[in-house]
Amino acid sequence: MSKGSLETLGVRYTGRAALDRDPQDDRLEFTCPHCGTVGSKAARRSHAEYHFTDGFVQDLQGETTTCRGCKRSLHISPVVMLHDQDEKRRFEAFFETELVPASLN
Ligand SMILES: [Zn+2]
Repeated sequence: MSKGSLETLGVRYTGRAALDRDPQDDRLEFTCPHCGTVGSKAARRSHAEYHFTDGFVQDLQGETTTCRGCKRSLHISPVVMLHDQDEKRRFEAFFETELVPASLN
């Protein structure tokens, strides 16, 4: 694992959470932990790579990308698949304390 890449949490919307957009536009969304830029990338891994962990369907291996803000390499992991708005709220409540640095608030 490269020391130059930062880890960040990714979210992939599916089902009812993704109703308002093109089903072909299957993307991960993430926030750069370095500069705070919100980015997205095409999801590369299939749904079969996701497994139920800690109450959510997650891909623990994740994907890599480059931040369009600061151009740093990012490792998006875990990627959490969310099916609807209720799950999104539950996800935000669950991950808030663990993964969002206080400096971003
Ligand atoms: Zn960045």
